[in-house]
Amino acid sequence: MKNFMILIFSLLAIFQGPSQVFGESKTDLAEKDCLPEYRFDGKKLILSEKEWQERLTPEQFTILRKGGTETPFKNAYNANKENGIYVCAGCGLPLYSSNTKFDSGTGWPSFWQPICPENVTLTEEGWFFKKTEVSCSRCRGHLGDVFNDGPQPTGKRYCMDSASLKFIPK
Ligand SMILES: [Zn+2]
Repeated sequence: MKNFMILIFSLLAIFQGPSQVFGESKTDLAEKDCLPEYRFDGKKLILSEKEWQERLTPEQFTILRKGGTETPFKNAYNANKENGIYVCAGCGLPLYSSNTKFDSGTGWPSFWQPICPENVTLTEEGWFFKKTEVSCSRCRGHLGDVFNDGPQPTGKRYCMDSASLKFIPK
């Protein structure tokens, strides 16, 4: 009987092995990326149009401040596979981690989750063709749009403009 119990416990240990590996899921990894110092502290950055023009390149200004869209595939981070974080090109607030980046085939850098949920602000746009704009919570800079055709675990596709982001390698 004792041997039988040892056998059962051994089998349980074997079966628990893989589940512990799966325990460190994509979701867990992504949650670890949201470090306390990355979280938006609620203090907004408000600058005049002139100040933004001085601070940003013309392309960054067009996209971040005027809601423009850059050319697909011909942008800095679409194909970037390095480990690191993407911060707002306007104010430096951390926005995405490379752990949630995926190849969407659209030609724009795509993520399935922001680094911390409060760091981006979502706004419903349009009457007939509805879409959801994604902007930086601190400076209200336009980043891109979010769609419901992304991969698991969220099913979201945060479609971003490279010019709105700045990559910081790990
Ligand atoms: Zn910002």
